[in-house]
Amino acid sequence: MSDMKIHSTELLDELETGPWPSFVTALKRLRDSGKKYAPMVNDLMGQLEHSYEERLGFWKGGTVSVFGYGGGIIPRFSEVADAYPASKEFHTLRVMPPAGMHYTTDLLRSMSDIWEEHGSGLIAFHGQSGDIMFQGCTTEQTQPAFDKLNALGFDLGGAGPALRTSMSCVGHARCEMSCYDEAKALRMIINEYLDEMHRPALPYKFKFKFSGCGNDCVNAIHRSDFAVIGTWRDDIKINPEEVTAYIKEAGRKYFIDNVVTRCPSNAISLNDDDTIEIDNRSCVRCMHCLNVMPKALSPGDDKGASILMGGKRSLKIGDLMGTMIKPFIKLDTDEDYEELVEFAGEVIDFFADNALEHERVGETIDRVGMPDFLDALGIDPNPNMIAHPRTSSYVNTADFDEEAAKYFAKQEKAKAAE
Ligand code: SF4
Repeated sequence: MSDMKIHSTELLDELETGPWPSFVTALKRLRDSGKKYAPMVNDLMGQLEHSYEERLGFWKGGTVSVFGYGGGIIPRFSEVADAYPASKEFHTLRVMPPAGMHYTTDLLRSMSDIWEEHGSGLIAFHGQSGDIMFQGCTTEQTQPAFDKLNALGFDLGGAGPALRTSMSCVGHARCEMSCYDEAKALRMIINEYLDEMHRPALPYKFKFKFSGCGNDCVNAIHRSDFAVIGTWRDDIKINPEEVTAYIKEAGRKYFIDNVVTRCPSNAISLNDDDTIEIDNRSCVRCMHCLNVMPKALSPGDDKGASILMGGKRSLKIGDLMGTMIKPFIKLDTDEDYEELVEFAGEVIDFFADNALEHERVGETIDRVGMPDFLDALGIDPNPNMIAHPRTSSYVNTADFDEEAAKYFAKQEKAKAAE
């Protein structure tokens, strides 16, 4: 190892000069570790420096997989392998994280040991889809590395035109804002449709993400095709003593400037005696006041979730936020969760049957039109379906009274039939 010729990294070094921790520093630590993967990381840095000089990438894809799986490995072969032979194969294993991303330190050590043995030592927690990215593996070492990760209880995630690895926030485990059991919803849906992840057969990628409240800590609304976001439909719970204590400590001016005037729907007012009132029908569940005063305010008791669909980055028709498809579902009982799983399956089937190749479901909705999409899924339009947060309904509200009467009559009928 001592005769390893260290590549010059003049341009990469620049990236260490900013205020934030740099991946270059981490790579150098691996390169200088004296471990068996050091030459691989050295050549990786050499190729990256070369890329920066040439302003070109030098990786190409290919096919690498493990027995029984059609996806989950991102193959990378170097086009400049002659100059950087130790990193000529630098594949990534995408591994599904536990729901809520809970690990024990023992488990993290075991993962690190496996990757020091079979890979480059470089692990990223986590990719945008939530995967644990075990980066830097030769084709030969891919199977033994996966076998050991699998023996720890971990499975490969999604890649290509398939159901992708899912993410849920830490939620129910230790967050007071959580409105449903995100980990349970994630596991039930992903376990049920796991085949779609391991054997890519969809027109394009499909992502589920689960956030316990409107804070949306896993970016579900803009980075998933099917976002389940916790919410409540009764009133925000107010603890009057904590409200008084908060206002006393922070001051009335601070409270007015930072809570009252920042409510996007002007739903909060401060009384002369330092009590507060919330107009719950106007509240849009933005979470701001609850975040500022978590001891004083909390989500209501009638909790559940909203389902939004079609969020994604650029692609064909530009960035999209999820569109409200189900304004409120209850997620209390096992049956509630099973219904959610069933609905998720209907959406996957619709996507498989109707999306064009390389089209995300948000684009499919845009192409076929929302009325047809809702019709295909058997969902009645409802004025609570909104196109964007804090804007009006995308459901046409001309003849509103007449339509509302029909809607309520239908609801009554459904209730009577239950
Ligand atoms: Fe206003 Fe948001 Fe609080 Fe609702 S959650 S009352 S919209 S600040």
